[in-house]
Amino acid sequence: MPNQKQTLKEKKHIVILGGGFAGVRAALDLGEYFKRDDAYEIILIDKKDYHLYHAALYEAATAQHGLVEASQVKRAVVIPFGSILKRSKVKHFKAFIDHVDLDDGKVVTDSRIVYFDYLVTAMGSVSDYYGIQGMDKYAFTLKSLDDAIMIRNRIEELVSKKDKGDIVIGGGGFAGVEFAGEVYNLLKHECEYHKKDLAKFSVTILEGSSNYLPGLSEKVSKLAAERLAKQNVQGKFSSIITEVGSNYVVLNEKDRIDFDLLIWTGGVRSCVLPFSEKLEQDKKGRTVVNEFLNIRKYPNVFIVGDNVCFIDKLTKSPAPQTAQEAIRQGRLAAKNIYRLVRGKELLPYHAGPSRYVIPVSGKYAIMYTKNLIIAGFFGWMIRRFVDLRYFVSVLTFIKALKLWLSETSVFMKND
Ligand SMILES: Cc1cc2nc3c(=O)[nH]c(=O)nc-3n(C[C@H](O)[C@H](O)[C@H](O)COP(=O)(O)OP(=O)(O)OC[C@H]3O[C@@H](n4cnc5c(N)ncnc54)[C@H](O)[C@@H]3O)c2cc1C
Repeated sequence: MPNQKQTLKEKKHIVILGGGFAGVRAALDLGEYFKRDDAYEIILIDKKDYHLYHAALYEAATAQHGLVEASQVKRAVVIPFGSILKRSKVKHFKAFIDHVDLDDGKVVTDSRIVYFDYLVTAMGSVSDYYGIQGMDKYAFTLKSLDDAIMIRNRIEELVSKKDKGDIVIGGGGFAGVEFAGEVYNLLKHECEYHKKDLAKFSVTILEGSSNYLPGLSEKVSKLAAERLAKQNVQGKFSSIITEVGSNYVVLNEKDRIDFDLLIWTGGVRSCVLPFSEKLEQDKKGRTVVNEFLNIRKYPNVFIVGDNVCFIDKLTKSPAPQTAQEAIRQGRLAAKNIYRLVRGKELLPYHAGPSRYVIPVSGKYAIMYTKNLIIAGFFGWMIRRFVDLRYFVSVLTFIKALKLWLSETSVFMKND
């Protein structure tokens, strides 16, 4: 009699770990490639039963209760896997991935064991605290829907209970700038509601480098600074947080700043991949892959998104941990698995062009490419279009449009 492993192995299994930007793209594309091939089963595993649209989390964290209910916030940033995979042959199940044995081709989750012939690992990142003492204990992070809801509850609590308060944001990169711009609007609504003096509540960004949005152009940093200054957000630059206490941070090992609420957006690192085999990693915990995004020793194992260290030939540095890169990598991993199955040559990965659209409070966003910068309402329109385009890429047009309209109307209430 065949054992369980043999029975399960009658069909070939392609397993995707994590249904974020990279995992969902890989799953949908694999579903298409193997649409008519019954010999292949595709399984997506995630600890949640939904895909999270991170790019709108800052809005979720600053949507006022009086204006937007928690269920509306949730619907605007969350897409159930059921909706995404409804018309695809990909199966999905909710489970915590505990352990992966690459030699045996086995994934152990908290509810079942799955064997794989091909694997896509797309389990995302966690906040990087850079070993700063006290940061993990006292700071909030903005990585999940729960984080967003918790932050907005804490801000509302702060205004309702106190007559003055200081909100400090660690990190003036994308997430810090987007979040800071919207916090002001939330504070404004809350102060009106609780009849408090808005001038007594402050928002400060602490940034280690000399500008907001380091790594982009000086012009973009300046535009962000001007916009944030209009929203009464203060920026402190060359300010490296060296210690955190329950209500204070120490900067550059000497200056102390007190806070009522600290939100850390200073960086991410790959989550620890639960592999039994030790693989080469960079200092951000990202697993090193070859040019096809798979592992030399295990060519059937692909690593993508925030988990991967792929050195870009042009910039000579790792491809950035962004949704755009994750989507491109998910797409290539799916294509290369298909090519591997069909005995074709694998295709190399090329990082995409740097393109960012950064919303900074209300109907204002800065679009940045190497050759073009557009800021203001038109930038915001581009950002709305980017969201719609993403929703259309994972849902039917009607569902995407409905989600986009609900997202737009929910978050505009905050402006
Ligand atoms: C607040 C914020 C705003 C951002 N804004 C932008 C933006 O505007 N533009 C942009 O390009 N990028 C943005 N990013 C970055 C972008 O979200 C990430 O680079 C992207 O999500 C990486 O995709 P991924 O598929 O690798 O991981 P993720 O999208 O994080 O997906 C990982 C998945 O793995 C699942 N998972 C993890 N561990 C387990 C486990 N043990 N068991 C089961 N499932 C597990 C998770 O539930 C999750 O669904 C933002 C990030 C944040 C935090």
